[in-house]
Amino acid sequence: MESCIFCKIIKKDIPHFSVYEDEYCLAFLDIYPRVKGHTVVIPKIHVETIEGADAQTITTLFSGVQSAVQKVTEVLQPDAYSIGWNNGEEAGQAVPHIHVHILPRWKGDGGGNMHTIINKPGSTSVKELASLFT
Ligand code: 5GP
Ligand code: ZN
Repeated sequence: MESCIFCKIIKKDIPHFSVYEDEYCLAFLDIYPRVKGHTVVIPKIHVETIEGADAQTITTLFSGVQSAVQKVTEVLQPDAYSIGWNNGEEAGQAVPHIHVHILPRWKGDGGGNMHTIINKPGSTSVKELASLFT
C-alpha cells in the first residue's frame, strides 16, 4: 500500500537494518527499541491484521519469526523472548501492516509478561462465556 511505512521499508524507499529476510517476510531492528535487539517481522504483502491474512501469509510469517529468533539468539544470546503483536488500533497497533514484535529478554530485566498487558476480566464467569462458544 502506497502510504504504508512498512511497505516502503520492503520497497527500500525507507532504509532498515535487516535481521532476517526470505521470499515472504522481512525482519528488521525496531527504530525505537524497547530492549536491545527489539525486532519486528513483517509479511512482504500488505495485510493489516490477522483477521485479513490468508493462511499462507500467517504460516510464512511465523516461520520467519522463528528464523529471526534464531538469528537474534546467535548474535545476542538472550535468556528468553517475549513475542507478540498489537492486532488492531485499540490493542495499540500504530502501523497498519501486521508485524510481530520480538523482544529479547534477560534475567532480571524488570520487564513484564503477557499478563501485564491488561487485567480487566469483567463479571461474566468463564463458564457463562464458554456457553457462547458452543
Ligand atoms: P506497533 O505499535 O504498530 O505495534 O509497532 C510499530 C513499531 O514499528 C514500533 O515499535 C515502532 O518503533 C516501529 N517503527 C515505526 N516506524 C519505523 C521505521 O520507519 N523503521 C523501523 N525500523 N521501525 C519503525
Ligand atoms: Zn504495508
